[in-house]
Amino acid sequence: MLVLGDQLDLQASAFDGFDPAQDAVWMAEAEEESTHVWSSKQRTALFLSAMRHFAQALRESGRPLHYQRMKADAAQPATLGTLLKASLASLSPQRVVMTAPGDWRVWQQLQAVVEEAGLKLEICEDRQFFSTVREFAAHAKGRKSLRLEFFYRELRQRHGVLMEGDQPAGGQWNFDADNREAFGAKGPGPVPPRARFAPDAITQEVIELVNMRFAKHPGSLESFAWPVTRGQALQSLRSFIDERLPLFGRYEDAMWPGEPWLYHSHLSAALNLKLLSAQEVVHAAEDAWRAGQAPLQSAEGFIRQILGWREYVRGIYWTQMPSYVERNALEATAELPAWFWTGDTDMACLRDAVQQTLQHGYAHHIQRLMVTGLYTLMLGVRPQRVHEWYLSVYVDAVEWVELPNTLGMSQYGDGGLMASKPYVATGKYIQRMGGPCASCRYDPAQREGERACPYTTLYWDFLMRHENLLAKNARMALQVKNVARMSDDQKQAVKLRAEAIKRGEVGCGASS
Ligand SMILES: Cc1cc2nc3c(=O)[nH]c(=O)nc-3n(C[C@H](O)[C@H](O)[C@H](O)COP(=O)(O)OP(=O)(O)OC[C@H]3O[C@@H](n4cnc5c(N)ncnc54)[C@H](O)[C@@H]3O)c2cc1C
Ligand code: SF4
Repeated sequence: MLVLGDQLDLQASAFDGFDPAQDAVWMAEAEEESTHVWSSKQRTALFLSAMRHFAQALRESGRPLHYQRMKADAAQPATLGTLLKASLASLSPQRVVMTAPGDWRVWQQLQAVVEEAGLKLEICEDRQFFSTVREFAAHAKGRKSLRLEFFYRELRQRHGVLMEGDQPAGGQWNFDADNREAFGAKGPGPVPPRARFAPDAITQEVIELVNMRFAKHPGSLESFAWPVTRGQALQSLRSFIDERLPLFGRYEDAMWPGEPWLYHSHLSAALNLKLLSAQEVVHAAEDAWRAGQAPLQSAEGFIRQILGWREYVRGIYWTQMPSYVERNALEATAELPAWFWTGDTDMACLRDAVQQTLQHGYAHHIQRLMVTGLYTLMLGVRPQRVHEWYLSVYVDAVEWVELPNTLGMSQYGDGGLMASKPYVATGKYIQRMGGPCASCRYDPAQREGERACPYTTLYWDFLMRHENLLAKNARMALQVKNVARMSDDQKQAVKLRAEAIKRGEVGCGASS
């Protein structure tokens, strides 16, 4: 039975009927998983540490295991495929079974190797999700456009989540309007600390390996404190429910300088590695609301992210691949600015978001969508380059969830399948939501001139560049109409400044 680094669940469906007398588990640490994109040190360390802890749990549960450790000095980087090929030759199994993988590339690679060995790769349903890809495909069939809201409501009804009879709890499906507050001038005040887990001997060994083997990869491991076992993941869940869920909804979209964690759950990596199931996380939030420990707006806002968005993007990925990764509806061709790998920019919001990402492998949703993603969208970066960056840097990055969020939701690369309109805004949005504009050399209210905020300039440039396409979108009509009100001189000034930003003459280095 094959177990991948994001399938660390002793109850996974592939274990059904597992007989330790004749069956065995196969796991491997393949270098290629850290090099096919330039995987950050935090991301690689989390996967390797969690895999090694899971291997220990497997041994303790008496399940025979063939585990291949990454070599510290391999001349030829191993792929999952080459490692499996060698194991199939030496172990000669009669069957090869696994839980559905989360990545098209890995699935193709493993399937080819197993078939070459004259066997069939048997795939079991991943029970850690509420819905199956087949259910999503049935929902999508015949619909002209796909929207999260309808799928989410279907799942709530089918699984009886936040329901009172056949009606949504509180009489509303959606509390988004209550969930957009910023902190105001005084900031968030004391925020509950993040759940931290000091590296044990296994994690220390992994940290040494990653620092040696992937020395030049982005980020650092000094602050590594992610949950790497199921027990630690359960502790993280508990601390989120008790300490942060009550204010999650209210401040879901807020940001604040120097506060990377805020009221978010930081559970995405534990969920994606399958240390936690979507069901137990959703039920914990619903139970907290029913027990009067959290308001409905928070419980619903949080559950919408998991029962809604997470299930939805998985359906999009598996019904749209493999061509999805190539899509580029806006024909964007620019390269990613080099400072995305260092944080060396004088735009304060981007510097904060990128540096924090490299330090922790984490940024919350609004930073990903409305700081880094917004900038690359309006700059016109090729969505594939943006996708590679997001897949590299975040500890929760697995392609089935990262790609639709990046290419679809954030870069509009799929032309509107994921999002009904491109998420574009000026620097004033970032300022309103708590961004560090007060300490930035740019001014979000200015779109032209030396102090113009690059977001504000690029926003108008983006609308001008895509005016014809956007005019066809009813949700963009108002924004596009504002372009028509600009004089030719104003348009020219925006264009010139935008060109300078694109050439990297503005916003590139903290010292520029
Ligand atoms: C450009 C971009 C790239 C992203 N890449 C990833 C990725 O690689 N992996 C990933 O898990 N999420 C990704 N997301 C979604 C989201 O930003 C992260 O799940 C979230 O920031 C993780 O932090 P958290 O656990 O504190 O989330 P919380 O804010 O506490 O949300 C709770 C949970 O809901 C789920 N969730 C929230 N938003 C989404 C979403 N849009 N899609 C799917 N699940 C969601 C996550 O499992 C998360 O743990 C991306 C979003 C954007 C805009
Ligand atoms: S002024 Fe513009 S670049 Fe500076 S922090 Fe605000 S939004 Fe970001």
